[in-house]
Amino acid sequence: MSVRVRYAPSPTGSPHVGNIRTALYNSLFARRHRGTVLLRIEDTDRARAVPGCEEEIIESLAYVGVEWQEGPFRQSERSAQGVYQPYIDSLVESGSAYFAFETPEELAAMREEQSRLKLATGYFGGAWRDAGPGDVERARAEGQPGVLRLRIPRDETIAFQDAVRGDIEVDSNVLDDPVLIKADGMPTYHFAAMVDDHLMGITHVFRGEEWIASAPKHIVLFRALGWEPPVLVHLPVIKGKDGSKLSKRHGDTACLDFRRAGFLGEALANFIALIGWSPGDDREVMSLDEMSEAFEIRGIQPSSGVFDPEKLDWMQGEYVRSLPTGALTRKVREYASELENSDFLRAKGEEAAAEGLALLAAQDEARLMGAIGLLQQRCTRLSDFSVACKPFLVDQPAMDPSATAKWFGEPHVRELFRALREKVAALPDDPDEAWCEATARALQATLGLDKLGPVVHPIRVALTGTTIGPGLFELMAFLGRDRMVVRLDSALGSLPA
Ligand code: GLU
Repeated sequence: MSVRVRYAPSPTGSPHVGNIRTALYNSLFARRHRGTVLLRIEDTDRARAVPGCEEEIIESLAYVGVEWQEGPFRQSERSAQGVYQPYIDSLVESGSAYFAFETPEELAAMREEQSRLKLATGYFGGAWRDAGPGDVERARAEGQPGVLRLRIPRDETIAFQDAVRGDIEVDSNVLDDPVLIKADGMPTYHFAAMVDDHLMGITHVFRGEEWIASAPKHIVLFRALGWEPPVLVHLPVIKGKDGSKLSKRHGDTACLDFRRAGFLGEALANFIALIGWSPGDDREVMSLDEMSEAFEIRGIQPSSGVFDPEKLDWMQGEYVRSLPTGALTRKVREYASELENSDFLRAKGEEAAAEGLALLAAQDEARLMGAIGLLQQRCTRLSDFSVACKPFLVDQPAMDPSATAKWFGEPHVRELFRALREKVAALPDDPDEAWCEATARALQATLGLDKLGPVVHPIRVALTGTTIGPGLFELMAFLGRDRMVVRLDSALGSLPA
């Protein structure tokens, strides 16, 4: 039997970390078994639908590298096409489902009374579970808006298996009769998702643990329709480091916010997949291919997983450092162009990064790649390049006053800058790193200095405005003859008299 799985989001908000993990596990599992992934948009709750959400879902999946082979299917369209009708008819006919006509006010009063009596709240029969056909006909003829409910059998043990948690048994008396078809004629999740899972030949359902309480009702429904349920795989919740369920309060949780914050989709996918799943060894940095090769349901932990932002940064750093510089440059440029006109970074207080984006987006390929190459080992998020590259790309870098105060007053510095400027200006072309190093060493000797530091540090400040950054000879070679001359002239002009 070939594996068929589905990612079935409701378009009710931006896909967040938990949703994306479900999508990833579907994808990893399908790849592992050469199976098929379907994308199904569960949009039957009109009141909660968010416009543009489907596009955001598709963009998020592309960002983390989840592919699907069939879909997107939309349940609202399937409902309009009458896909669900035969199963409604069959459930009504067999008595496995029944119509109920309570008003919202009556249902609220019922719930209130149950709470007052400290009983479980929900619809355990009301006035309609055992109503005769005549009553139902009359209510329908009067045009009362009714719902269709599943008749949960009483006094039974509903047993099923969860692939992560094992055997589960539930007393059917604690299960209320869920709505299958709402008053507006739309199917609920409980109905449409089960029918679709069957019709679409789904073999394994990966979904959030919040659905485990509904699983016995789903088993009843499958049974009523004479179908075999798919393998159920409920995924543990994701928590923040403080132990509470991951939410907006923990910072970014929407998938595309991570892209806006400068994370690579590959790094985010790797990080998210490892929240609650382990390959069974101590590997952490893994491509989608490597993860799909190692993906086993038994590697999913039943206990909740923790979202650790520091680990995400670490993971991101690993990816940034190991990408070929050309590929990284393309990613940085794409990122800069996408975020150039956005307020995202500013809203997070990252003004400097926001400001530098236009400069990155406007660079020619070779120059940007040179700057990225210099800084690849020193940056983590793509937004970091925006700040770090700036001194190398602007006409004249801003001078850090503490750096100039530290080095520009040294007695040998005027002669150092003058002699270096002379050597650089005399070059026929841009120098390479070896020339830069040899020249610095020669200047050290000429100036009679014991150490190379008093040569290297002032030059770095003159050329970049700061005392920190990539290797001096490398950055000199990147800047090239003409820009070095301009920067040395400016430094000479600013030396104290
Ligand atoms: N539409 C449901 C949700 O977004 C899907 C649950 C499932 O995968 O079955 O939570």
